[in-house]
Amino acid sequence: MPEIKLSNISKHYDEVIAVDSVNLTVRNGEYVALLGPSGCGKTTTLRIIAGLTLPTEGEVFIDGIDVTYAPPGDRDIGFVFQHFEIFPFWDVWDNVGYGPKLRGLDEMEIEKSVWEALETTKLTNKVDNLPEELNTPELQRVGLARALATGAKLMLFDEALGALDPKVKAIFQHELRKIVKKNKLTAIHVTHDQLEAMAIADRIIVMRKGKILQIGKPTELYYSPNDIFTANFLGESNFIEGVVSKVTETGSEIQLRDGSTLRTDEKAIKRGSRVVINIRHELLRLYTIERLSALNFVPGKVIGYRFLGDRHSYEVKLDSGEIIGVKEFARAPPSFKMEDTVTVRMDTSLAVVFKYPSDGLAPHLSLE
Ligand code: ATP
Repeated sequence: MPEIKLSNISKHYDEVIAVDSVNLTVRNGEYVALLGPSGCGKTTTLRIIAGLTLPTEGEVFIDGIDVTYAPPGDRDIGFVFQHFEIFPFWDVWDNVGYGPKLRGLDEMEIEKSVWEALETTKLTNKVDNLPEELNTPELQRVGLARALATGAKLMLFDEALGALDPKVKAIFQHELRKIVKKNKLTAIHVTHDQLEAMAIADRIIVMRKGKILQIGKPTELYYSPNDIFTANFLGESNFIEGVVSKVTETGSEIQLRDGSTLRTDEKAIKRGSRVVINIRHELLRLYTIERLSALNFVPGKVIGYRFLGDRHSYEVKLDSGEIIGVKEFARAPPSFKMEDTVTVRMDTSLAVVFKYPSDGLAPHLSLE
């Protein structure tokens, strides 16, 4: 159950700053996800922890020992990648036994660790199969078994579930987390899939452009994002513009561009400030009542609809011209059709109010 500490880690490739002054502690036995868009520096950070890439600056500590310049083999780490690096001419048993053999274990110990890893990954009926006889999820299990059989207590997963179909992926996420927790491993899991990060991790580290934006439990990031990018990256969000019209001891009122008013709990803002309200699709409800001039009710028109099985997903154009998303549980067939005039009830209790960025919203909503 090792503890990992990155102290002021940066990695430059000529002009590109792949990782920018990253400080991070992953606790013993913790399962963390490194989450962010393509090119944000997740893999480079993982490779620096693994010893496969040297940082330009900073130090890596494993259990308090400086391993910045230690070779990968001295770090006692198991890796699982999206592209299973499995020997094609070896059967499953030999592939999984490779790590323990490298460690110089005797025959009995090798057999024990391989068998345990195969049991954990449900591969005991595949020991004699060659990789070409296995399907994608089975190959991924071999990759995992190989990492587990090494006996390493630190696991690094780099988009390890990326090649799996969504349904299989969901099952695998659940199993992977159970394996990590049962075996008291410390795991760092790179993904660009926010749902996967939330499903799997104790804490999520959100990265963008080489920097860490926020670290927290999935619920902390979801309900209290520090910035517009994080709010947008996790879940499905609306960002509605407004101006603070009133601040009281219990909260504030925000006037939207169409004249409607939202009451929020946010107190730390000044009257007259330009703001953007982050409100998630599932916090909105549609009603047929027209032009209801009450707080937190905003008029609009349905301009789009998708059926998601368990949800109805509507697109609504507000009178301000802003287009928002509304998701409702599909307990019954959809109640609204295209062009319907609606009133959107906005539950602001979980809304987050951000200062309107001086450079506009677009750079903060960009998924790069
Ligand atoms: P992805 O999900 O697409 O793999 P990522 O978040 O893992 O993205 P990295 O692979 O760490 O991002 O890359 C971060 C930045 O560093 C990118 O701009 C990438 O092009 C650059 N980069 C990574 N490795 C190298 C390299 N060996 N040489 C030059 N540039 C590199």
